[in-house]
Amino acid sequence: MFNKKTVRDIDVNGKKVLVRVDFNVPLKDGVVGDDTRIRGALPTIQYLLDNGAAVILCSHLGRPKGEVNPKYSLKPVAEYLKGLVSNPVYFADDCLGESAKEGAANLKPGEILVLENTRFYKGEEKNDLDMAKGLADLADLYVNDAFGTAHRAHASTEGVTHFKPGVAGFLLEKEIQYLSSAVEDPKRPFVAILGGAKISDKIGVIKNLLNKADKVLIGGGMANTFFAAQGYDMADSLVQEEALDTAKEILAAGSDKLVLPVDMVIANAFDNDAEKKTVETGNVPAGWRVLDIGEKTVELYSNLVSTAATVVWNGPMGVFEMPEFAKGTFAVAKAVADSNAISIIGGGDSVAAIQESGLADKVTHISTGGGASLEMLEGLVLPGVAALEDK
Ligand code: AMP
Repeated sequence: MFNKKTVRDIDVNGKKVLVRVDFNVPLKDGVVGDDTRIRGALPTIQYLLDNGAAVILCSHLGRPKGEVNPKYSLKPVAEYLKGLVSNPVYFADDCLGESAKEGAANLKPGEILVLENTRFYKGEEKNDLDMAKGLADLADLYVNDAFGTAHRAHASTEGVTHFKPGVAGFLLEKEIQYLSSAVEDPKRPFVAILGGAKISDKIGVIKNLLNKADKVLIGGGMANTFFAAQGYDMADSLVQEEALDTAKEILAAGSDKLVLPVDMVIANAFDNDAEKKTVETGNVPAGWRVLDIGEKTVELYSNLVSTAATVVWNGPMGVFEMPEFAKGTFAVAKAVADSNAISIIGGGDSVAAIQESGLADKVTHISTGGGASLEMLEGLVLPGVAALEDK
């Protein structure tokens, strides 16, 4: 249940509305790559424009660490946005200061002003209240539609609500609805698939999902640490020594729900062209390392996914960057796409795998937020959402 006010609950006609969007998109030589996050914000932007608002957009891009750095300018994103909407789009080369104030003051209903990167100021990530007030003063109303940054209490996501009441945009609402109903009120069986390099990044998620899901399937480097915790020699595989006790704890608590790979693809070097073979658990020879899940595991995981009513997937099953060891990840992507379950995918690598497979339209919901979606799976309340007005 989403219990926050949204843009539908407020009158925006004739108002200046500051919208925190997540325009943190990949840029190469000033050209926008994957535009999913920009398109994700369009329904809210268009709704506000169509209902008579002047729309001021703010976002961060990359990690400029509180300093002005043209490499992280939002100007190319503003240019790109011009191709997606028919309304006028202006750009202010500062998110505070004169150009922002003047741009906002002159903005008319039906027009868009894109502000420069909020992280060009140190105050953004420090949730500095002067900065937050500066942003809030530009507008009459505040909308947060930046799901990808909602797990951060920053000036433009949390601080600003101390000065202007905030409501949610459609993307934020949709993300929270899908992720929270999957975790809190899932159609069962509920199968979660977790991969990626390290257990330590996902301990909270694993623990929460072992409570909520019917099965938690583990892949990627994370599985190695569980095997090491069971006493297997993983040879040169990535094993997180400092997480062994946690892994033991999790194994003891969730053994009936936790599913580990039954076979794995190993290689004699960390290289796409290395010699490789498939072995069963406990058979990694000295000098070799696990780089993917094996075919039997793919079959096991695909079968479990095919009987699920809810599937959540986050994290690759192997070293997905090397084509020879990306097969497990792509097979899981296909299994998730083929299932009739409510399917939710989050995290950069899993989302990239489903998109590269051309199967994205077969998935119920692809999250625009990696870290934020993980915190939702962990059962946490996101500060950027908590700060919005209750219904
Ligand atoms: P994360 O950021 O935690 O989701 O982890 C993603 C990274 O995990 C990717 O860069 C993968 O290459 C890496 N990864 C997945 N499986 C393995 C593995 N078996 N050994 C080493 N790294 C892995």
